[in-house]
Amino acid sequence: MIITRQKDINKILAFIGDRTNIFLIGCKSCATTCKTGGEKELDKMEDKLALHGKKILGKKVLDPACSILEVKRLVRENKEVMKECEVILSMACGGGTQAAAEVIEGKKIVPGNDSLFQGEITRITATGSHFEQKCSLCADCMLGETGGICPVTRCPKGLRNGPCGGAKNRKCEIHKDLDCVWITIYKRLTDIGELKNMYNYKEPRDFTRNKQPQSLDI
Ligand code: SF4
Ligand code: SF4
Repeated sequence: MIITRQKDINKILAFIGDRTNIFLIGCKSCATTCKTGGEKELDKMEDKLALHGKKILGKKVLDPACSILEVKRLVRENKEVMKECEVILSMACGGGTQAAAEVIEGKKIVPGNDSLFQGEITRITATGSHFEQKCSLCADCMLGETGGICPVTRCPKGLRNGPCGGAKNRKCEIHKDLDCVWITIYKRLTDIGELKNMYNYKEPRDFTRNKQPQSLDI
């Protein structure tokens, strides 16, 4: 999922400027899980903006916000409100915000969140959640050679052919609170009887495989 963090309200207000009438868009998928763009967060944002004299003409949590079809449906169902509104405040990821920009013409689009990374959910409770980046979408997955553990993402140097030698007490020399991922890979390859993979040379990452922007037909 896409991990997002809500922007500081002052930054959001600076984007909105002196415009008053606002429509809030959230996302039922990732942003709801991250508590940055679900029903509750939209309600709280409405209250915060009201304190600054802003008027929320409508709000909707889309399922999901990154679907052009969902945004088109929203516009169809809110034709009159959209005429009055000056700003679309998107509390989705950057993809959701751009879906709004693509469909909703003539309105200022404001991002309410920063999109951080594609991540795993490692803890989710009422009091707090934890997300970790495990894949950086390199478009050339090497997990079959590394015991299902990604050095491209989890080694801060992105090393593909073994450790840098800087680890101390199994901890990474860059992020001292994290295990060196290559030691983790070594242990996993030992456990599954594929330690020979450590000796296979892996070609440098081919960055042309994920040149941006990408698209896909299936
Ligand atoms: S190698 Fe790592 S970054 Fe690349 S696709 Fe696989 S998990 Fe993602
Ligand atoms: S200590 Fe391990 S994880 Fe850290 S940079 Fe070196 S090889 Fe990568």
